[in-house]
Amino acid sequence: MSAPAKFAGLTKFDCASACNVHGCVIAGGRPQCMHPLKGGVPHHFKNDPAIQQLYYEAATALGIIPETTEGIGT
Ligand SMILES: [Zn+2]
Repeated sequence: MSAPAKFAGLTKFDCASACNVHGCVIAGGRPQCMHPLKGGVPHHFKNDPAIQQLYYEAATALGIIPETTEGIGT
């Protein structure tokens, strides 16, 4: 499968091309990169359904299948 268009450019080493210092696509536009293999989801966003959904989609696009965001980027 291919990554959703919003994650264009996303690889295991680089975040999506739309990600920059002003906003990460995986973070829902927040100025903090939540790439699954980089920072991950900060603890205080773990209960944010929108972040969890984006994170799940991004991780799936990378071939990572997270059951949960728990324990990631703590
Ligand atoms: Zn990012």
